[in-house]
Amino acid sequence: MSLLLGCIADDFTGGTDLAGMLVNAGMRTVQMIGVPRRPLPEGTDAVVIALKSRTIAPEAAVAEALAALRWLRAAGCRQIYFKYCSTFDSTPQGNIGPVSEALMAALDTPFSIACPAFPANGRTVYKGHLFVGDVLLSESGMRHHPLTPMTDANLVRVLQQQVKGKVGLVEQSIVARGEKAIGERFAALRADGCRLAIVDAISDADLLAIGAACADLPLVTAGSGVALGLPQNFRRAGLLAEDLVADALPATDGYRAVVAGSCSLATQAQVAAMCAVRPAFRVDPLALARGEDVTGAALIWAGDRLSDGPLLVYASADAESVAAVQQQIGAERAGSLVEDALALIADGLVKRGVGQLIVAGGETAGAVVKKLGIDGLRIGAQIDPGVPWTTALAATSGAAPPLALALKSGNFGSVDFFLNAWDKLT
Ligand code: ADP
Repeated sequence: MSLLLGCIADDFTGGTDLAGMLVNAGMRTVQMIGVPRRPLPEGTDAVVIALKSRTIAPEAAVAEALAALRWLRAAGCRQIYFKYCSTFDSTPQGNIGPVSEALMAALDTPFSIACPAFPANGRTVYKGHLFVGDVLLSESGMRHHPLTPMTDANLVRVLQQQVKGKVGLVEQSIVARGEKAIGERFAALRADGCRLAIVDAISDADLLAIGAACADLPLVTAGSGVALGLPQNFRRAGLLAEDLVADALPATDGYRAVVAGSCSLATQAQVAAMCAVRPAFRVDPLALARGEDVTGAALIWAGDRLSDGPLLVYASADAESVAAVQQQIGAERAGSLVEDALALIADGLVKRGVGQLIVAGGETAGAVVKKLGIDGLRIGAQIDPGVPWTTALAATSGAAPPLALALKSGNFGSVDFFLNAWDKLT
């Protein structure tokens, strides 16, 4: 059977999160880093093309998304999914709005949804407002994000500022009534001139109903949550077998390491938990700015310790330290200095025999994967909600065991993630 679902993700860990969701729901899924340049492995039901477009200029993000769309349509995908973060990470200009509108225009479709909800990870949308755990988005750690600080939890307002078309709302009271009621609300919003609708969701049952209601939409824009309900649409249409084993991965081995560049609260806690019990090396952005050979020092430090078990290299810091660094050297320069250094360190670790690697942070993971020259990942079983183990697609088949990678979005994972994730590798 040919490809069913074609996804475009605005960052790498976001792409992996979505791919993991699809695997859990029974679709064999491959994540490609950028637009694929080679055929996908046999027996792939869904593909996620991961871009690094969350914080680039809107015109560039649109161009990349349209290039991905062209490939997906040529590959025969029946439905397109634009995936962004469950905390709706965007700058005031975009890129969620401009990319959604450009995809709609290219697909010649008048209507789509926007729904970042992921209740399993504490992201719920109610009356158009996004909650992170018990607090509004604007009161969560996201208000201090180094690249996309989110200071307004009203998603109808946030999205409306990014698009030309009118944005509506499908309230939870309607979502709770199920697929048919949601579909009727879509029709009413369209009649009212709306081009996009924020859709409330506070439970997995809501996500399943939304998924079912989206069966005939050429384009869905969402976090990874809505993907929960989409595979069932393909099953219902007789396009996807009921009994597929979707999460099988080849065996891996080698040393274990964690590279963390996220400053999100969850990652800060995970770094602290690992520092307490395992060797850890801190990458100092100011030392990088002074031109010191931090990368070399990190690799010499790691070289002696790799055979003793998992180790950690991190730049993660709390909001106060990040702000101090950004004030001295600028947010963008700090971000790229740290990303480049962590990517070089990850590459050095793999060259020194690391075969199982966790990377924390969306931008960080993007930089690492690029440096490692990986163009695609086969997606396996989940470690925690939103984070599966994956293996790098080998350039040639039959090579040495592939590299196992867990690419963790900054805010995801339990506090012991860096310590326990290894147990889930076969
Ligand atoms: P998340 O998934 O939490 O958003 P990202 O890796 O996408 O994590 O973004 C974190 C950004 O912060 C990256 O650009 C990273 O290089 C940068 N960064 C990491 N550590 C520091 C630090 N100590 N000071 C300033 N910026 C940092």
